[in-house]
Amino acid sequence: MRVFPAALERLTEQFAKLPGIGGKSAQRLAFHVLSLTDAEAQEFADAIVEAKKKVTCCPICRNLTDGGLCPICASPKRDERVICVVADARDVAALERSREYSGRYHVLHGVISPMNHVGPDDLEIKSLVERVAAGGIDEVIMATNPDTEGEATAMYLSRLLRPMGLRVTRLAYGIPV
Ligand code: ZN
Repeated sequence: MRVFPAALERLTEQFAKLPGIGGKSAQRLAFHVLSLTDAEAQEFADAIVEAKKKVTCCPICRNLTDGGLCPICASPKRDERVICVVADARDVAALERSREYSGRYHVLHGVISPMNHVGPDDLEIKSLVERVAAGGIDEVIMATNPDTEGEATAMYLSRLLRPMGLRVTRLAYGIPV
């Protein structure tokens, strides 16, 4: 015998698919949704659909944007000769909060990870190489995490970019890799 209505079970299953949400948490969230007013529930559903529909990647740096160039690539104040390479958009936000960086970014959307079957072709590496090949770049700063996969990705990219005649450095160490 089914304990909960099918629609509630379905909602619980959707929450359970989210990263870091176990069965108990999924059920708690589903019950919370039931306690919302109709307007609040609609707002929640709309936010999911709208984010999925409107958030795109900047055609230059692949950072998340709501259409067209991201604010950083669109700003004439940012140094276009320096590119900071990060794994995802949250790293851009973190670096922007420090207010110490005035160049531009390139967002890889992940790191090379043989364990998770993520290879160079699954990441925004081709777009980075094309960007560098187009010229006008003096320095690329690798700002991937200092863990095994982050280091391996930085190493892979530096081998790829160094022969193209620009400075490749590692964030926090400030030394050529
Ligand atoms: Zn951009």
